[in-house]
Amino acid sequence: MLCPRCGDLLDTVIDGILECTRCQGIWLAQPAIVRGFALPWPVGPNTWWRRGLPCPECAGEGLTSEMQLVQSAQVTVDRCQGHGVWLDHGELARVLGVQKGEELAAIFRALYAGQPLPDAIAARDQILATRLREAEDRAAVREAEEQRRLALIEAERAHQAELQAARDAEEKQRIEVRHAEEQRRLAAIEAERVREVAARAVVREARDNRRALLREAEQHQRDEERGTQPPSGREPGVSRETLERNAAIARKRVRLCEEQLLEDRAKLASTERDLSIARGQLRKLEDELANR
Ligand SMILES: [Zn+2]
Ligand SMILES: [Zn+2]
Repeated sequence: MLCPRCGDLLDTVIDGILECTRCQGIWLAQPAIVRGFALPWPVGPNTWWRRGLPCPECAGEGLTSEMQLVQSAQVTVDRCQGHGVWLDHGELARVLGVQKGEELAAIFRALYAGQPLPDAIAARDQILATRLREAEDRAAVREAEEQRRLALIEAERAHQAELQAARDAEEKQRIEVRHAEEQRRLAAIEAERVREVAARAVVREARDNRRALLREAEQHQRDEERGTQPPSGREPGVSRETLERNAAIARKRVRLCEEQLLEDRAKLASTERDLSIARGQLRKLEDELANR
């Protein structure tokens, strides 16, 4: 009998069960099906409108008969009403609900319950089971390799993220140092400005006093030249009280300027401390980066 799928000669595994060694399809003859299962077998809707394979037994009798397509266990098998069922590779395992490689043992048990498994089936199933295991092992190795590859990628990504974080921290530190330096420069400018204002105030005060004294002296001289005397009880020109008051104002101003100067120096010192701390941190980060 010839394989309806590829035309090779079918091998008899046991009576009523034939196998194509090329495509691994299986022919179950009607007497075997009657022996092992309640008819119809397999159970499932008949898709009569689709054309099936030619029946190998009808072909052997010189007839051409397309088999019916039956859907069962999510596979489509070919069935000849009078001769049997053709199952492509893997379909018998699906229909019986067993692992691939165990289907012939399962159907033998269905047909000949309690009898020892023939060597032909045991050897074939062993080979298929070994092949299956090998395929699973290969898949496991591939999976492990893939996992390792993904882990490496992940590690590299984490490393890059760490480097970037260090670079960001360093950049932040640099900005802080620049900011502190700018603050210090502004504080120094402000201190210098205050000092200049104070110095100018002192000079102006002295000049004003000198002018007042000069005016007083000139007035005094003019009074003498005219031979006039100032009214009794009143001193000529700018009085001593006025001069003392002016001096008190000038002293107060100088003191205020000195206080302002002290305050600005304190601020400058604080900013320099900040700058020093920020530089220290930057050096530390740069060392850490250099050691990576
Ligand atoms: Zn075949
Ligand atoms: Zn037939």
